Amino acid sequence: MQHLGRILPPLGLMLADALLPPRCLATRDIVDRQGQLSAKAWSAINFITKPLCQCCGMPFAFGFEEDAELSCGACLANPPDYDRARAVLRYDDASRAMILAFKHGDRLEGAPAFAAWMARAGADLMGDIDLIVPVPLHRKRLFRRRYNQSAVLALLLARNNGTPALVDALVRTRHTPPMGGLNRAARQRNLQGAIAVRPGRAAMLAGRKILLIDDVLTTGATAQACARALRRARVSRVDVLSLARVVQAG
Ligand SMILES: [Zn+2]
Repeated sequence: MQHLGRILPPLGLMLADALLPPRCLATRDIVDRQGQLSAKAWSAINFITKPLCQCCGMPFAFGFEEDAELSCGACLANPPDYDRARAVLRYDDASRAMILAFKHGDRLEGAPAFAAWMARAGADLMGDIDLIVPVPLHRKRLFRRRYNQSAVLALLLARNNGTPALVDALVRTRHTPPMGGLNRAARQRNLQGAIAVRPGRAAMLAGRKILLIDDVLTTGATAQACARALRRARVSRVDVLSLARVVQAG
């Protein structure tokens, strides 16, 4: 696939990872094996557990059966463009540094562990999908970061699940400014028409059940823009699996 070389991490980065002493993905303490968390980090990280909104995967505070099939108020009022979303952990003070290092810092040694966690958190989704598709990066951002972290996760999940990945199914048609600090409405405006199915890929998507891979779900605006683009290519379903998500307190 002609785009793979620009999406995958350079071999040198992966070799460098293999030569360094194994360090905790979050605290940087020395650990036994590459891709592990120290006991301290493991107890600090907030993994998302049931009960969840069956649609967006947002955890309910309390008061529901673990397997209650309920949607949250936000999904009932305004159903998202994707079918279901799930995430491994909360994006918070305990996980932020680990995720930013993976996104921006050439720190890929956690990727296999992240993919394994995602397969577990997304077990309900993984059993019935045809194709795994990552959220795309704009080529300018890809050039700067050198790899698309969501594509790295998509390829690992694809290999472990025996499901094909199409890492270049979606494309950013224009460069959007960083969205940190923007609210949901501003993010939606920012993304208007910015994500599309890559020309020539629509036929491979039509009628398929897609698992979209994202690193962090913040407001969900990016995942929704991807889901809308995929629906225009007449996919039969779009589920979203992310490593982390923002969960508002309360
Ligand atoms: Zn919901």
